[in-house]
Amino acid sequence: MRSRTANRSGIVIRRRVTPAGDIIVTLLTPQGKLKAIARGGVKGPLSSRLNLFHNVGVQVYQAPGNDLASVKQAVLEGALPKLAEPERYAFAHLMAEFADALFQEGEFSEQAYDLFAGALRGISHQYDPEWVALVMSYKLLGLAGILPQTARCARCGTPDPEHPDPLGGQLLCRNCAALPAYPPEALDFLRGVVKRTVRASMDAPLPDDQRPALWKALERFVTVQVGNVHSWRQLVPFASA
Ligand SMILES: [Zn+2]
Repeated sequence: MRSRTANRSGIVIRRRVTPAGDIIVTLLTPQGKLKAIARGGVKGPLSSRLNLFHNVGVQVYQAPGNDLASVKQAVLEGALPKLAEPERYAFAHLMAEFADALFQEGEFSEQAYDLFAGALRGISHQYDPEWVALVMSYKLLGLAGILPQTARCARCGTPDPEHPDPLGGQLLCRNCAALPAYPPEALDFLRGVVKRTVRASMDAPLPDDQRPALWKALERFVTVQVGNVHSWRQLVPFASA
């Protein structure tokens, strides 16, 4: 008989406590996204282990006819305590919501897991967590196969557009655009970040004053292309400004 118990290891990207005191968690694991419930978990030892951004090993039990697996045990395998710092926390939260929106349950992606785990470590340790979050968000988009069009104007197809596309978050040519062109560094970022290595992008951070436009483009693009990202949108800096 097939065992319905499974052991998985992953990072908690979403955590919700129900009025009944259950904890519903979503883990990003190398085998895909996993959603499970720890019944009555809020009163027990699982409560502190199943915290956001914790790397945990869980034993889950899938009862027949029950769509949510139950967490039977959880062991803390790793934590990044610096993520509790407010600015780092905000960017880590943004990445977690983003990964949750981009990747489906059961969808296998070891690369997504590695990229996300790397993003959290970078946000925890690097001097410039905002830059890590911006670069890694675009890298995750690339991995999900959802790429902003940069070679041609999103509206008319003219090659080498240089202006922001305030509705779709892509690029517009001079004739279609209402806003001034991106500065050269921001344009280079948008054209190259998905293909470039994370290290190369980390070594060439954009000045602070060029970042709001990039966040705004990301927010527009994801809203149009991915959808169902309401909670994520609230976390994007400057997007609502
Ligand atoms: Zn155009």
